[in-house]
Amino acid sequence: MRSEYTGLMRIAFGLFLILALPGHATTGVQLYVFDCGSLRAEDISMFSLSNEETPVRELFAPCYLIKHPDGLLLWDAGLPTDFAGKGEFELEPGVFVRYDTPLADQLAAMDIEVSDIDMVAFSHMHWDHVGSANLFTESTLLIQRSEHQSAFVAKDNELFQPELYMELADSNMQMLDGDLDVFDDGSVQIISAPGHTAGHQVLLLRLENSGTLLLSGDLYHFRKSRELRRVPVFNSNAEDTLKAMDKVEALIEQENATLWIEHDKALADTLRKAPAFYD
Ligand SMILES: [Zn+2]
Repeated sequence: MRSEYTGLMRIAFGLFLILALPGHATTGVQLYVFDCGSLRAEDISMFSLSNEETPVRELFAPCYLIKHPDGLLLWDAGLPTDFAGKGEFELEPGVFVRYDTPLADQLAAMDIEVSDIDMVAFSHMHWDHVGSANLFTESTLLIQRSEHQSAFVAKDNELFQPELYMELADSNMQMLDGDLDVFDDGSVQIISAPGHTAGHQVLLLRLENSGTLLLSGDLYHFRKSRELRRVPVFNSNAEDTLKAMDKVEALIEQENATLWIEHDKALADTLRKAPAFYD
């Protein structure tokens, strides 16, 4: 009688483990969104959209902090820090930028020092995503092997500005060859989505109250890019980018996820900014 009871308890506990472990444990993850600048382009043809296809001209440049009980992860690092505090200025003909408060100052306002960040990952190494990268020399860099080769070794992408991230060349690195379940509980997952750059990636977050979110990197720059499946002119491999779109769209469907197009300024205007958070 007693052993039968113990057997039932074992089965119940086994079921508990199956339900509570990988893929289901979402407790305690918080997502913070930081304004790390914005860009305004008078002509959007570089995104393979005609100026008539959308009236959108402004792009948000976010940084994100993911607070997990097992550590802090920074995702994307916005515009170059030396843009900050200058108001809007013309970076190149017809392209204007603005960056109010440097990421490090925004973190400090939350009593977080850059050295507190355990891991950093960038959707890709284009200059508008790694603006504060050099600060995070004490963090472990999670990077696709192909992106590392392109950004740190070959330096073969005209939108890479190695001076923004080369301080990380000797950092601890976890070299990825595909997807990564960052905290081994399914709550934070780097999803390989190459094409925009050699090792472009997106981030899947399972949050307890906000549901499943997917941070796009530059898989899309505009809502119209998604709707029309447009690959920008500045892109490493168009065929791979289209495949990455298929992979990520299937994942969004399967996970019933909400896609946040990182550069979507209209979306960003509606989001809670740090120190407020999503959980
Ligand atoms: Zn970008």
